[in-house]
Amino acid sequence: MAAFGTVFMPQMAISRFDGSTWSQAEMVASDSIQLHPGAHVLHYSSTCFEGLKAFKQPDGSIKLFRMDRNIARFAQSSELLSLPAIDKSATAKMITDSVAMYAGDVPEPPGSMYIRPTHFGIDPAIGKAAAPSLTSLQYILLSPVGEYFTSDAGTLRLLLDETGMRCAPHNGMIKSGGNYASALRPIMQARDKYQADQVLFCPNGFAQETGAANFLLIDDGEIITKALDESFLHGVTRDSILTLAADMGLTVSEREISVDELLERAAKPGCEAALSGTAAVLAPVGTFIHNDREHKVGGGTEGPVTKQLRQAMNDIQWGLAEDKHNWLFDV
Ligand SMILES: *Cc1c(COP(=O)(O)O)cnc(C)c1O
Repeated sequence: MAAFGTVFMPQMAISRFDGSTWSQAEMVASDSIQLHPGAHVLHYSSTCFEGLKAFKQPDGSIKLFRMDRNIARFAQSSELLSLPAIDKSATAKMITDSVAMYAGDVPEPPGSMYIRPTHFGIDPAIGKAAAPSLTSLQYILLSPVGEYFTSDAGTLRLLLDETGMRCAPHNGMIKSGGNYASALRPIMQARDKYQADQVLFCPNGFAQETGAANFLLIDDGEIITKALDESFLHGVTRDSILTLAADMGLTVSEREISVDELLERAAKPGCEAALSGTAAVLAPVGTFIHNDREHKVGGGTEGPVTKQLRQAMNDIQWGLAEDKHNWLFDV
């Protein structure tokens, strides 16, 4: 199977903002766009993206999962980056039209069609270091994907990093390439030095998130995760999992968790930790690495609550359980 996100549908929906209006969306080849070498995005990183999925249902129809949330976040990222405002309903139509066009290519569960809306500044002006791009480009790239982690892939190793930061704190809730670039070097160093899979950034000694996923701790009937603030990305999966956890009778605590509390709770046999994001839904964490020491989380293997929450989410996405919260959108 090809690596996640390396196969693309041959065409994508595209639209340009010329400084006053968005162009009518059109379908163009997915393997090329024309860009001026002086384009704002290439110099000043005026770019944001989204990641959402379309799922094949038992009756053969295709449904989009929580598209409204992703479009709202796309609009917010664009605004916080001083990009032109997107037209939310036009973007929704670009998504639904292109997924409908490739409905026959949406893989069967556990696969899905991963959708990558992308928006960036294209003013050909290298003098705009401290000025926004007034023109921009938006496209919807489609990539059929399989299961992100196979169930026997084991658990993740997380380095707890109390000194570094994923990105500048005021940029945390922007889904932007610049933030990924900023997190990459610490992640590579953690891989080299500790064979860690990811870094859990813990600025000032409190758990925040990893480079591309939110962090959740499950212990003693409680699910704990950082409360929303502007320092980190507000995951749609995080929100969905917290909702399902409340449905299941867990106590949902959105609050700060210190590294001390993390390590103390991890030492208990029933403790579970997980990362949430669209690609993997919920990936179990088996080990924390802190001050050159390894700490198993609970038994170090995937716990039952993590599994149950992921299953509950997949069941809704795959049309196997009632969509009580109206998360599915018709294509
Ligand atoms: C995309 C992303 C997430 C997860 O968001 P979902 O909406 O659940 O996919 C978490 N953290 C960061 C930094 C992200 O970019």
